[in-house]
Amino acid sequence: RPKVGVLALQGDVREHARALTDIGADVTLVRRPDELDSVNGLVIPGGESSVIDKLSRIFGMREPIRAAIAAGMPMYGTCAGLIMLADSISDGIDGQQTFGGLNVQVRRNAFGSQVDSFEVDLDVPVLGGDPVRAVFIRAPLVEEAGAGVERIAQLQDGRVVAVRQGNLLATAFHPEVTGEYRFHRLFLDRVEAAA
Ligand code: GLN
Repeated sequence: RPKVGVLALQGDVREHARALTDIGADVTLVRRPDELDSVNGLVIPGGESSVIDKLSRIFGMREPIRAAIAAGMPMYGTCAGLIMLADSISDGIDGQQTFGGLNVQVRRNAFGSQVDSFEVDLDVPVLGGDPVRAVFIRAPLVEEAGAGVERIAQLQDGRVVAVRQGNLLATAFHPEVTGEYRFHRLFLDRVEAAA
């Protein structure tokens, strides 16, 4: 069984752990470098990216995660996790940093305050089959996607809400809260291929 971690500093850790367990992964909650060393892939949950950033530095996880990304460890980020995997943020607060790895610029809270949460059906051709019921909660947007970045889901107006680059996968929305496990499967396939 593939051994995967969920970064458990802050955010919807439990929902991701459940999704991964349901599809047959062996899940570890990752808070320390030695826990990261014990897994072959990592999910970065939704939550609050500025908090995940701060805690990752306090827990000594920032550099190990950056090293794992550089070494090609498969990762999947949702919402705040997408922000953490982005190379740059257009509206970060207080010197907020990301792990980076995805050649994209994201805007946090891109959907404004009145509509900070909404749901929409999205076509995601790489998943095949039915559209994805996508839940956006104070979601970010991929404002710019550079070389090597595959846009795997867009809103009807063309705005990019899911991307893939190498072994990194990221969605602005939260499949883990709706029982939509196809993204987690895509991630696990990568983990198995890389392991
Ligand atoms: N707006 C949050 C952030 O900046 C992300 C929200 C989420 O993960 N649901 O981190």
